[in-house]
Amino acid sequence: FNPPPAVNEPSLSYAPGTTERDALKAELARMKAEQVDIPMTIGGKKITTGDRVAIHPPHEIKHTLGHYHKGGSAHVQQAIDAALAAKPAWEALPWQERAAIFLKAADLISGPYRYKINAATMLGQSKTPHQSEIESVAELADFFRFNVQFMIEMYEDQPLTEPGSGIWNRVEYRPLEGFVFAITPFNFTAIAGNLPGAPALLGNTVVWKPAETQVYAAAVIMEILEEAGLPDGVINMILVDGPVAGDIIFEHQDFAGLHFTGSTKVFQHLWQTIGKNLPKYRTYPRIVGETGGKDFLIAHPSAPAAQVATALVRGAYEYQGQKCSAASRAYLPESLWPAIKTLLVEQVGSIKMGNVEDFSNFMGAVIDERAFDKISGYIAEAKKSTDAEVLIGGGYDKSEGYFIEPTVIVTTNPNYRTMEEEIFGPVLTIFVYQDDAFEATLDLIDRTSPYALTGAVFSCDRGAVDFATHKLRHSAGNFYINDKPTGAVVGQQPFGGARGSGTNDKAGSIINLYRWVSARSIKENF
Ligand code: GLU
Repeated sequence: FNPPPAVNEPSLSYAPGTTERDALKAELARMKAEQVDIPMTIGGKKITTGDRVAIHPPHEIKHTLGHYHKGGSAHVQQAIDAALAAKPAWEALPWQERAAIFLKAADLISGPYRYKINAATMLGQSKTPHQSEIESVAELADFFRFNVQFMIEMYEDQPLTEPGSGIWNRVEYRPLEGFVFAITPFNFTAIAGNLPGAPALLGNTVVWKPAETQVYAAAVIMEILEEAGLPDGVINMILVDGPVAGDIIFEHQDFAGLHFTGSTKVFQHLWQTIGKNLPKYRTYPRIVGETGGKDFLIAHPSAPAAQVATALVRGAYEYQGQKCSAASRAYLPESLWPAIKTLLVEQVGSIKMGNVEDFSNFMGAVIDERAFDKISGYIAEAKKSTDAEVLIGGGYDKSEGYFIEPTVIVTTNPNYRTMEEEIFGPVLTIFVYQDDAFEATLDLIDRTSPYALTGAVFSCDRGAVDFATHKLRHSAGNFYINDKPTGAVVGQQPFGGARGSGTNDKAGSIINLYRWVSARSIKENF
């Protein structure tokens, strides 16, 4: 068994007149009529509780897609027990068999489940067909395939044995001793699959808590993994409140690792809890997290205005800005500002927003009422502020769905709130700098980057590119030159950031996989 090198899964276009468009539309209609009833999955058993929580598309809140069954403490305990019970057999399987399951899952995603996982992501998370395709299909399949390739590379990384020494040195990449806890966010179905998937591939067993606003697509991931042959208990999906899960998991002696994507605040709280409980654990748990971002774009006076405007529109508003990587603050030179401003007003003003089942919409709704209230609060405050002006957008309405217009704020205060705080919505704030202050502006960006996830510089001047790349060395884990700061591709731009943005263990890379093993060195004399 020698799998071929991984290649990125191409995205389908869903252009008018294509059969794939018809197929996706048919799947959307089927799912909307279906009324799912989603159980938890613990030890391969489907657990219903009767505590049924309704699921609504964020863009059509009066429609119900079905329900999920919410669990409590007893289910968390059952999931840990199931993970620990499944561990010896799973860990003992030859890696080729574990790899085959994830490769099969990837083929199911890009094959027979393609429309289902795409439609579930569109309906449950309000993604447009394209935004859904690039991640719930392509990126998730990529994660599973590239992880297999990286696993093999890692296993092949072996120490030196001197020829003729009579010694054989080797390293065994054991899974962690215990179980891994995966907490996944609403915004990427691919992340929801990768966070439990990567540790499991390496022989770990996992308790997985998807975001309550992402259960609809999470259930499809579970279904795919089961069809691919994942043994019972390897990944256990619990649908419980975070603190209920945390209270039991972080007290357990066999807790061995946390794979997290979510807010900085929650991650810090979990880390503190783990720190406090350290004496209880058999081993030091691995803590891997991708958290917030306040991602920047800076244009040098040599940059082409049209490219900058396009990057801002796509970087700030695709998926309603609900990406940790979204461009949310821009630094533009005075000389380019009039041209970029005209383009932004024109392009942002013509963005179509609405129900994602209408494929001509560029934006859907934000995820839930809490997000709507938070984002609209920032906009309301900007409208009143003497430091800021709403250039375009600024409207919001939650009567049918949680819709927030793509909004551009311009500020004269580089420390204005929306230049520094993560909003996680379709709000871009612009600060215009004097052309001769490019270097000082780079310093300003670095100083105002408590997060360091993504960032972009636009310039046609090699010297300026090199200078910015050097100056902003620690301000972003993913740095883009003449491109928007979103849309990292597995295997091409390993993704993650440091500072307040996480542990920078690069999702979908060998760096991440090393965190889910505990190496044993073996020296043998013969
Ligand atoms: N990897 C995604 C990107 O590059 C962002 C993931 C996230 O929002 O957590 O756009």
